[in-house]
Amino acid sequence: MSAPVTNQSLFERAQRSIPGGVNSPVRAFRQVGGVPCFIERAQGPYMFDVEGRRYIDYIGSWGPMIAGHAHPEVIEAVQRAATRSLSFGAPTADEVEIAEVLREVMPAVEMVRLVSSGTEAAMSALRLARGFTGRDAMVKFEGCYHGHADSLLVKAGSGLLTFGNPSSAGVPADVAAHTLVLEYNNVEQIEQLFASRGSQIACVIVEPIAGNMNFVRGSAQWHRRLRELCTEHGALLVWDEVMTGLRVALGGAQQLYGIRPDLVVLGKVIGGGMPMAAFGGRAEIMQRLSPLGAVYQAGTLSGNPVAVAAGMAQLRIVRRPGFYEALGAATRRLMQGLERAAAHRGVSLRTDCEGGMFGLYFADALPSTYSEVARADLEAFKRFFHAMLERGVYLAPSMFEAGFVSSTHDDAVIEATLNAADAAFAVLAKG
Ligand SMILES: *Cc1c(COP(=O)(O)O)cnc(C)c1O
Repeated sequence: MSAPVTNQSLFERAQRSIPGGVNSPVRAFRQVGGVPCFIERAQGPYMFDVEGRRYIDYIGSWGPMIAGHAHPEVIEAVQRAATRSLSFGAPTADEVEIAEVLREVMPAVEMVRLVSSGTEAAMSALRLARGFTGRDAMVKFEGCYHGHADSLLVKAGSGLLTFGNPSSAGVPADVAAHTLVLEYNNVEQIEQLFASRGSQIACVIVEPIAGNMNFVRGSAQWHRRLRELCTEHGALLVWDEVMTGLRVALGGAQQLYGIRPDLVVLGKVIGGGMPMAAFGGRAEIMQRLSPLGAVYQAGTLSGNPVAVAAGMAQLRIVRRPGFYEALGAATRRLMQGLERAAAHRGVSLRTDCEGGMFGLYFADALPSTYSEVARADLEAFKRFFHAMLERGVYLAPSMFEAGFVSSTHDDAVIEATLNAADAAFAVLAKG
């Protein structure tokens, strides 16, 4: 008889064939330590690993699984689409329909193009912004993630008005040199930058509510200034709603702030768990894309019929009346319960949430910048993460990630999570 498959044995095997044993770095548990769970299947709010252990899942594939895992309507749509062939490389009626739905839920999206990942969508939106404006420089904010295209893997230079440096090996310095990196939520910095360089800036790209540095809200005042400054200086405002789109509200963060970006980047929820993403925006800009315009962009699997079927099925679910109200209520209930349980044990924990997305910080105050997020208590987070995992609750294995609730996280699931948390905070309180 062969030895039973364990997370440990698979992780050792994986590391011989796959760099770090994973196909995306955060899955490796490097920040929290330990062995990642190898998942066999998932259903509703639960994931099951290869050892047969069950976890309440608060990662939701990092955002897409808003209706829970293996939702019967999504699975059926995928199965039906698959029997009609997996790809055509020719247009379909379903991709027209999903484009129409995206326009309907997000008024800033007058036209849209489908791609296969958020990285590809952000990269394409950036090229389009540069092609449309005829400018090279772009602005991003510390702590925001927009996928791993070269121009977006950039950290701040030595001073406010100096162009950025690569944040990854392999990114040419002269590519990074076109990206300026400013502090999130800092009105003064963006005003200063536009005053000195406004005419060079093609676009400002931002996560309206940042979900790649835990969960940090952009202030309404800062977002208003970004919109005004872009308009004044002929730069495009690009909202990366790959995470927040159809997650914090049906219409994304745009609906909450009442701000209309020029371009929008989407992914995660819109693909229902399949590789699909999109970028869209003002028609006048989108019409600069090939084959109409001079900005080239293409994809063999773009608008893939199986991915579109999964996305459409999940979109039908989230558009039902009351979906986001119930999701938001469940998330708030979880956050309030966690804060109460932490306070009961004398643990400093603050939380924030919007729709089905949340943040947890082992700190005394909510952060508004990346450096504030980084000052939270990492040791407390690590111990909490492992104490929860042991008790069957799977949180993001990094203090710099947001968490996600699905519509299948019902009262009983939230209650079970809070019971686990109470025990986990007790472990923390013992020190
Ligand atoms: C996940 C994410 C991306 C990248 O999407 P991928 O599909 O992983 O390439 C881009 N922007 C934001 C805000 C994201 O959360």
